[in-house]
Amino acid sequence: MRLSMSMKKKTADKWDRRYFLLAKRISFWSKDPKAKVGAVLLDKKGWPIALGYNGFPAGVEDNVEKLKDGKLKNEMIVHAEQNTLLCSGSRARRGALYVYGKPICPRCAVLIIQAGVARVLGIKPDPERNPGSHTHRTGKISLAMFEEAGVDFVPIDPKILKSRKRKRGT
Ligand SMILES: [Zn+2]
Repeated sequence: MRLSMSMKKKTADKWDRRYFLLAKRISFWSKDPKAKVGAVLLDKKGWPIALGYNGFPAGVEDNVEKLKDGKLKNEMIVHAEQNTLLCSGSRARRGALYVYGKPICPRCAVLIIQAGVARVLGIKPDPERNPGSHTHRTGKISLAMFEEAGVDFVPIDPKILKSRKRKRGT
């Protein structure tokens, strides 16, 4: 009950921080040397149902040469968000998605919207502070689509993962 109530919150809470931290951990599983993205998907009741990170499709070898070739990689890679949605199927409806590593790209945003995800927590695209970054520039398109489609987007500053720890003195 408490978890499902937290799904409607517009700001991040303790559980959001925990799942975002988990998404960060999962991002390390990616073999992509340039971009490591992790995602955690909860169902509408707040139960975790899928984990994902960016990588080639199952059975396609993640070899370094392919990963180094940016153009080839972009054609072949499955994004973290896409992997969670493929795992969860219709259970993604009215759920929440945590994405660590990069702002959400428009190709993932359209799938998140179509899958019926209600709440998305991720890194806010900031093209001003990241000039020349295609991901930050196009991330703005994702946010505009989320807003229009009625998906709640909660920006999470990756720094919260550190600052909270310091406060506790652990
Ligand atoms: Zn994407």
